[in-house]
Parts: sequence; structure tokens; C-alpha cells
Amino acid sequence: MTRRPLIPLAAAASVLVALLLPAVPAQAAQAAVATGACDPVQTTPVLRPDVPTATEVLGFPLGERDVTTAESDAYLQAVDAASPRVAGGTLATSVRGRPLRYAVVGRPGNVNPGGLARISTAAAALRDPRTPPAVARRLAATTPAILWIAGNVHGNEESGTDAALRVLYELAAREDCAADRILDNAIVVLLPTQNPDGREADARRNAYGFDLNRDWFARTQPETDGKLQLLRRLPPVLFVDAHEMGRESFFFPPNADPIYHEITDESVSWINDLYGGALIAEFTRQGIPFFNRDVYDLFYMGYGDTVPSTGFIAAGMTFEKANGDPAPRRVYEQYLTQWVSLSAATARKHELLTAWHAAYVEAYEQGRAGALEPNEIVNPGNELVTQVPDRPVRHYFLRTDDPAKAEEVQALVRRLQRMDVQVNRLVRPLRVPDYTPYHRSARSTVLPVGTYWIPMAQAQKHWVQAMLNEDTYTPFPYFYDVTGWSNPLLFNVAGGYSGAVLRPLAVRARPVPAPAAPRPPAGAPTVGVFQLGTGSSAIESSGWLRWLLERKWALPYREVTAADIAAGGLSDVDVLLVPNGSAAAGAQALGATGSAALAAWVRAGGRYVGWRAGTELAALLGISSAVLAEPTSDVPGSLFRVSVAPGPLARGVGREAWAFYEYDWVMRSPDPAAVAVSFPPAGSEDFAVSGFERGAEADLGGTAAVLDERVGSGRSVVFSVEPNFRAFTDGTQEILRNAILGPAGGAAVATAATSARAAAAARGLSDLRRPVRLSVTPADAAAAAAVLDRAGLAYERRTGAGSVRFAVVNRGELDADQLPWLDTVVRGLRAAGVTPLALSAL
Ligand SMILES: [Zn+2]
Repeated sequence: MTRRPLIPLAAAASVLVALLLPAVPAQAAQAAVATGACDPVQTTPVLRPDVPTATEVLGFPLGERDVTTAESDAYLQAVDAASPRVAGGTLATSVRGRPLRYAVVGRPGNVNPGGLARISTAAAALRDPRTPPAVARRLAATTPAILWIAGNVHGNEESGTDAALRVLYELAAREDCAADRILDNAIVVLLPTQNPDGREADARRNAYGFDLNRDWFARTQPETDGKLQLLRRLPPVLFVDAHEMGRESFFFPPNADPIYHEITDESVSWINDLYGGALIAEFTRQGIPFFNRDVYDLFYMGYGDTVPSTGFIAAGMTFEKANGDPAPRRVYEQYLTQWVSLSAATARKHELLTAWHAAYVEAYEQGRAGALEPNEIVNPGNELVTQVPDRPVRHYFLRTDDPAKAEEVQALVRRLQRMDVQVNRLVRPLRVPDYTPYHRSARSTVLPVGTYWIPMAQAQKHWVQAMLNEDTYTPFPYFYDVTGWSNPLLFNVAGGYSGAVLRPLAVRARPVPAPAAPRPPAGAPTVGVFQLGTGSSAIESSGWLRWLLERKWALPYREVTAADIAAGGLSDVDVLLVPNGSAAAGAQALGATGSAALAAWVRAGGRYVGWRAGTELAALLGISSAVLAEPTSDVPGSLFRVSVAPGPLARGVGREAWAFYEYDWVMRSPDPAAVAVSFPPAGSEDFAVSGFERGAEADLGGTAAVLDERVGSGRSVVFSVEPNFRAFTDGTQEILRNAILGPAGGAAVATAATSARAAAAARGLSDLRRPVRLSVTPADAAAAAAVLDRAGLAYERRTGAGSVRFAVVNRGELDADQLPWLDTVVRGLRAAGVTPLALSAL
């Protein structure tokens, strides 16, 4: 993009004349739908014979059993080849090299290259608040809506794929009024599987252990990144993300609280009323069991529902079908929800696109006024616990005056630009009277030339707030996932915001190119990775680490097993990385021989770098002074400011960082010199949290986040937190990198006495893996216990100051979607009148 001064908004619309070209007409079916004459489900299909059925291509009908990835691809390609209504493509290649195939289905004139280009341009104009009203009205009338159906983001949740293939067939083959309504008013992007590697491995996650339904804003994985690029080209007003769950029946929205505040009223109304209402009516008519308003929230900004809703002002929806039901049932119900959703959208297409454009105009106006959307509670009986502060935010700024952070700032700007955020650079110094650095007080500041300026007065205002927020202002203390994700804090870059009316002199920032391929660091040590068990915590943390080593750092490593260690296999390893997992599983696998060998290797000069369970293992093995304790606070995944002591771990990091803390052990050392990174003392102005917390300051203030100690001739560096959470904590990744590649640390020594004390504390820790945590007031404790007892659940109970905490045993380390009893507990608590202080299922 050329550098040019910013121009007034009103003057920028001349190119839009080109958009007044006629689109493929579609009026007849619309009239019928408006009168309800064509029932989307009960209309008898009229089929063209020239579109191949699944039986003809695969030898069996869809729904008889789950298709393989190859079968899905083969069928999609066969329908594509046979039908002018279908335009197939590949939007990404998975980690293991499999194509992510999609099909755009619509009238032939809409899905040929010219038609798709025209619709893409028209959709961009509808998303542009500068588009003149008359042009927007015309486009809303003449442009097909873009509707997305995506399945199988969790690889072992198959039925959404097979259902999407049935929708593909019906849209390609049907000639009746129900299909006509969809074809005349929309193009439908079908992405049968979002996770082909996971599907083939019958695994939830992708080949690097990432939950792809948590990766949407960071886009670390190719499967996610390619999807977002196509979404930008064909932006949705509807995005269906079809899952399966470990619970009975079927879930579709309305969602549970909390809902992220920048998701517009339009999106929530479409989700709850237009689609939720249509689905309730059809499931009720057919007598199919379903539930809603419980379990599945709309908060964490990395899901396949929140990101389409916030980043595209779509109706992003998660559907969940019981995975224990037979394939025909699962595929039929998924198909039904997809078909009903497409029908509901297209019955009101003109109204939808009109409101879609109006929502972008409103976003711009909100941004100009500096108005954040307020928190709202959607479900009866729930009460708001946090409101969004009533102060204007008109501008965000990212500073560029720290050369050590240049790469991080560039990466963040690129991330914003690749969600169509307008990012500018100051060409003159700018005095900002109320510049507010993240989690500091406002002060008048002159920002230098080159500072990135992101105005809220833009189409992507909601997304800007979602990414650059100081806090998420969690409105309700139920947590299906983490609660803090402010991107400047994740990257640990300097920035802030202002509510003032400013007139910056700035130019549009050039698109930041993709970073160059990493080169292996010179003189790198020999690195080993020891995975602690095979549970989901181990799969994730080890997988995130492998991605970091291979894709971001190009740092060679090799896997080391417990048997290798016991057999002396560490002799050629310089640095051993021990990520999260199960310390008990690791210790058991090592046995007495392996444990002694590992400790001896460290004392003889090895460098042990562990985090979370890896830290617990170090304590158990007597190679660290880390005294670990159970947290008493509730922190379901939030960012905490930490102080970084000068020394080798601080290189390129600075004096502060933001640590991603999630119910981790509270860590202390008797040796202050061992503490390399710490939570600021309680009561100090440095103590700051982005995301939900309850009781954190008293619990964590002044404790350690990283210890760095000599152990004999070797060294241990241990983190209480995950330094590479979902591989998007770029800021603390740098501390980890220093721990691996940097010079040896300071003078602190883990002695026999301090190590023995640490080991004793570690042996006393709870060994629950990924429990569900419920905190209630003492007055509610008996009722809460009764709910858990009735559900037949085992739990540990602890009484703290003003609260009682239940840590509910999660056998098999199941993910939240797979917990068979979560809906029972949620409903039981509500029926018992228990209002949790915090309920975390992540
Ligand atoms: Zn799922």
C-alpha cells in the first residue's frame, strides 16, 4: 500500500460506483418465503440426476458411518466436477500436509470467478462504514449473503463433516423452493473438515497438539490461518461451527453467559432469536432433545463463534451433538441445524445485509465517540459481576521506541492488519493529554514519530477492542476458557490508549510482510524434550513447545523418554526441556533409577528448564528450591504483570513482562537471589491483572514466577506458569528462549536443605489433573456439595477466606466439551439457587 495522508472519510467513496453493477437476480423465492409458503424441512426435495450421490461416489450413503478425510475430499471434488453451482478450492494445508478443501455453493453466476469477485467486493463495501447509504441499500438488495458451515475443528468430532457434505449435495442437486431460497439469496461456503490431521488420528487437536478452536486470534496453525484468509475474502454473516460433545442431546444457542461485550446486539439477536428460535421450533416439532443457555459461553476470543461474531459481525454459532449417538442420528441432526440455519438466514437476507452494514456504521460511530459496548447478561437469574468502565477509549497506540521489541510490534501490527484493522503511523510527534499505558495511570505524553496509532473510529472497532483491550471485563464468573488475551500484553510490547479527541498527523502503515523463515541459532546447545505423560496437558504443552522450536525458532531438539534418561541417555544433552503434563506420571515413568540419573545429570552440568508440572518434577527430584503450594485464588487464565530481575533471563525482555497464569502452583524460594521473575508485592502499584481474578493479589503478590539456580555444576530454571501458552505468549517465550540459549545465571544455589524442603512441599500437592473448580460462599457450600454429590462426583474441598473451593475430579483429563456431567452441575447449581463465585471448566 502506498503511503498517503489520511483523508476525511466522506471523500473516499467514489470507487463504489463500480459496485452498482447488477447482481444475479433472485426475487421469486424470496416472496414465497416471506409468506411461509415453502417449509425449509418439510418441502419434498426435487433432485437433479446429474449430481452424484455419496453412494455413487463412495459406495455408501452419508451418515452410514463417518467418512474419512480422503472420502470427504473425493466426494467434494466429485460434486464440484459435476455441478456448475459448486466452486471447490483448498484454503490451507495442514501440518501433516493434508489439504483443507472447501466448496462455495450458489447460483453458477455467483460462484464463477467473476461472481465471487463481485460478491467479495460488495461484501467489503457493506463492511465499510464510508459506503454511501444509497449504495449500501442497493448492495443489501442485490448481493447474496455469505454463509459459512464448518465442521470437525476437533478431529474426533466427526459428524459435522458428513452433514456438510449432505448440504453440499442438496444445494448442488435440489430444484425445489427450499433449496432455491438458499441458492437465490446466498453463497454457502462449506468447509467439511477444519482439522483433517485430527480426523485421521481420531484426535481432538491438530498434529502440533493445538486445539484449533482456541487458535483463532493468534492463527499460529496453518489450518486456522488459511481459514481466516478466506473468511476475509468471503466475510460471513453466518458461521456455523459444528462440534460433538460428551454430553447427551444437542446444544445450539442461545449461549451461556458470559458473552464478550464487543459482540454486537445484532450478532446476539441473530444468534439467539433468528437462528436459535428457528432451531428450537424445528427440534421441538420433530421431538428431538436439545438444550441451550447452559455450558457453552461466547467469551474467549479464540473460538469459531466469537471470532466470526466480533471480527466479522456475523452470527457465529457453536453446535454440539452427543458423540455417543449412532452416526445416522449425529449426521442427521447436524444436517438439520445446518439446513435450518441456512434457510433462516436466506428468508431474511435483505434485512440481514441491511443490518450488517448498519452495524459497521454504528461501530465506526461508537469508535468516534470512544464508546465501548457495555457488558450484558443474557440469561435469567444471572447477575453481572463486572461492568465495562464508563470512560472513553478513542485511540490505541503501540510504541516503537524499544528496538528489542521491534519484531513483536511488527508481528502484532501484522496480526491486526490481517483482520482488516486500519493501522497508522505518526509522522509528527503527538501530544496525548491522557495517554494511559496499559495498567498504569494516565499522564500527558508526547508520542514520537513512528508510533503506531490504531483509531477506534473504524469498521473493525469491535475487533480492535477485543485485541488491544486493557482488560476483558469478564461479566459473569463462569469460565469455559481463559479470560485474558490482550495482545500487547501477550507480546509484552509498550502501548496504551487515550479517550481524547486528537488529530494525529499519520499515514496508513504499510502491510507488514510475513517474517522471514527462521534460521537455526549459531552455537545452539543440544536440546532434549521430556514429555510428562500422555494426558491432554502434556499433549498441549509439549505440542506447543514443538511448534515453537521447529517453526518459530528453528532450534533442533530430540525427544527424550524416561527409559532413555534411566539408561544414561542425557549424556549428550545440554539442555533438557520439561513442559507441563503430569509430574506424577513423569516421576513414575522415571522410577528411582531415572530420577537419580536425571538429578545426577543436572548436578554434573546439565541445564534443566521446566514449567508447571515440569517445575513440580524438579522440586520432587530435589533439583530446585521451588516451594509450591495450592493457589487459594480463582484465576481461570489471566495475564499478570511480573517483574524481571536484571540478568541473563531478562535479555531483550526488559524489566517487566506479562505472565499467563491459570490456577498454577504458587511458587516461593527461601533464596531471594534465585527469583528471576516475580509477581509484584500485594499492594504495590505494579500489581496488575488483565482478565478475571478473585483473591489473586493476596495469593500471588510477591511470589516467584521463575527461579534460576545453580545445582551442583548444573542449573535449573523453573517457571510456575506456562511461558508458551498456546504459543501466543510471545513475551514470555523470550524468557524461555533466554533460559535455553542464554548464559548461565546468577549466584543462587539450590542446596541440599532448600531442595529437600521443596521436595517435601511438592509431595504434599494435590495430584488432580485438570479438575473443574467451583468456588462458592460459605453460605452456599452445603448446597453446592449436595449438587456434586447427586452427580456422583469426587472432589477435594478447601475452605479459604470467605469462600469454599471444590476441585472436582476430572477422570481422564477430559476437555470441557467432553465432560459428561458439566451440564448437570451447571443446571443443578442454578436449581439449588447457588451463585458461584467462580466456576471454571477449562
Ligand atoms: Zn468440539
